[in-house]
Amino acid sequence: MSSLEQETITEGAVLWFLTDDERTSIANSLDVEKSTLLDLKGNVMNRARATCTGCGKHSGLDDMVHNAVEAGIHSNTFVLDVLVNGPQSMSPAHGLKCSRCDSEYEGLWRWDADTHIWTRD
Ligand SMILES: [Zn+2]
Repeated sequence: MSSLEQETITEGAVLWFLTDDERTSIANSLDVEKSTLLDLKGNVMNRARATCTGCGKHSGLDDMVHNAVEAGIHSNTFVLDVLVNGPQSMSPAHGLKCSRCDSEYEGLWRWDADTHIWTRD
């Protein structure tokens, strides 16, 4: 595993391993206990992690959760359900902002095919 905590599965599908910091950040965003998210191991995206030009943070699932909650697109309950049970539908590619400093990561981001969320076996 690289220091970026990710692994390329196929071209266009990169598994981002959820770090402990990210799990803490997601729990804070959703206002839930961290233990709720213990089965969540990571997510599969269409590209490798990016580094924030503003603060150096690596893009992560926590940024996506933070963006969704902050923008009021989805309720906390909905986001939590997606994280625990998997998405019910495909979401379009979208921009992504750093949850720490609000800088925009370059490019567009989307889940990979049907895999999206990777939980423990
Ligand atoms: Zn940043």
